[in-house]
Parts: sequence; structure tokens; C-alpha cells
Amino acid sequence: MIAAPLPALAPPSDPESGPLDYVSASRLKCWQECRLKFYFRYVERITSPTNPALFVGKAVHHVLQQWNLARWRGEAADAETLKPGFSAYWEDAQAEEEIDWSGKEDEHRQKSWTMLEHYFEHTPIPLEEKPQAVEVIVDRDLEAHGLPPLRGVIDLVRAGGCIVDFKTSARTPAQKLAGHLHETQLTTYALLYREATGEEESGFELQFLIKTKQPKLIVTSLPPAKPDQVRRFLHLMESLVEGVEREDFIPSPGLQCSYCDYQTQCQSWR
Ligand code: SF4
Repeated sequence: MIAAPLPALAPPSDPESGPLDYVSASRLKCWQECRLKFYFRYVERITSPTNPALFVGKAVHHVLQQWNLARWRGEAADAETLKPGFSAYWEDAQAEEEIDWSGKEDEHRQKSWTMLEHYFEHTPIPLEEKPQAVEVIVDRDLEAHGLPPLRGVIDLVRAGGCIVDFKTSARTPAQKLAGHLHETQLTTYALLYREATGEEESGFELQFLIKTKQPKLIVTSLPPAKPDQVRRFLHLMESLVEGVEREDFIPSPGLQCSYCDYQTQCQSWR
């Protein structure tokens, strides 16, 4: 049963793990996007530097986690209380990373905080609502299906079993496509939530914090994962396992190449 929040964000990714030690939503998404990218990231384990957008996403997630934990504990959860934690994270976390800000660090920092202030003002979650779970790591044993374990971190489960995922984005997402584009991730959460509680989730909320000049919050509500989606998900996991076992790492050139970290390695791959 999901009963307690974790005190700190603990990503499920283990840099030492093999490509089939476990499967996660990010591994599956990478596999769907480009098998060669999966190879560079999870087989060769070529690390790539954190870019500003990724760092902003991590900082925003950190503050939202603190906000959720404060609500869980019944403590003050307003912008003024959370701002010192944002500043400390911004300084401490990047001390360990090399980020090319191109002279725009202050701009990114200001935008990130403005986006959070906007969220606290417009969030659909009442302050007095106690979360069911915050940043919970869950594993699901899928040995019965002949598959590796599934692992993930759920950002937030609202009272009543609605799974929430926070996303930062530079532009407004196409809401009609949200369920389709995020199906792999949401089905991962559904399977993990069902494993942890023995119950079905009541639905999903994708909460997009948009980094436009005037920040926006877009909330997309989606129904629980359907049996068809779970079947499709298990087939996707099978495809990953079979593909890795026969070393089927064909490249998939497309729009995604423009933001791929492995362009150089890709060009010289034979
Ligand atoms: S550059 Fe494109 S084809 Fe090459 S690994 Fe990256 S996503 Fe795949």
C-alpha cells in the first residue's frame, strides 16, 4: 500500500544497471523514439551534460515535491516559505553539473520561479487536500509475463487515487494528443499504482507548467488505463526485451534527431 511520502527525490535510474535489469517509462520512451539512442544511453551508457531545460525541470519538480510534502505534513506550503528551498536547490544542484547557460542563467532562474508562483496561485489542488502519496518509488515484478521488473517514481497521488504528473514545457501542449503521447508513462504509473495499492487508479492529471513569458498552467485529466492499453504496454515491453536480446539497435532518423544528445556517435555508427 502507498502510505508514506519519501523525504527526497530518488530517481529510479541506476547508472550501473544493465539495459534489461529493469524497465522504466523513460527506457520505454527512449526505445520507442529511437533504438540506437537507447543503445547509446542504456547499453553503452554514454552520459550527456544537463541542458538548461532539463535543469529547470528538475528544480521545478524539487519545489513541487517540497510543496506536496508540506501539505502532507500539514505545514505552511506557500510561495514565500518555499522560495529559500528553490534558491538552495538552484545553487547546490548545479555545483555538481556543468551547464551551458549561454549567459542566460538569471533569465532561466527568474522564469522558473515565476512559473512556480503562477502554479501556486492557480493550482487545481486545494491546499488542505492531503496527498495519498508523494514521490513514491515502486517496483512491479513481471516475471510471470517473462519480463524484467517495471520501476518508476510517481510524482503525486491525490486523495481518491488520481495520479498526477508534473511537466514543464516551453510551449502549450496539444491537449487532444496528451493521452496518446503520454500513454507509455501513464500506463507505467497505472501498473505500479495497482501493484502498490491493489486498487485501480481513479484517473490521471497531467499538469503542464508552461514557460511562456506569461506563465500558464494547463491541466489535462485522463481516465484510468484501459485493458487494451495495458496489453499494448506489455507488448511494448516484450519488443524492448526481444530487441535488446537480438541487438536490434537500428536508428530512427526524424524530428527527434534535432534534440538528440548522440548526433556525433550516430553519424559514425556502423
Ligand atoms: S541522431 Fe536521430 S537516429 Fe541518431 S541516435 Fe539520435 S535520434 Fe537516433
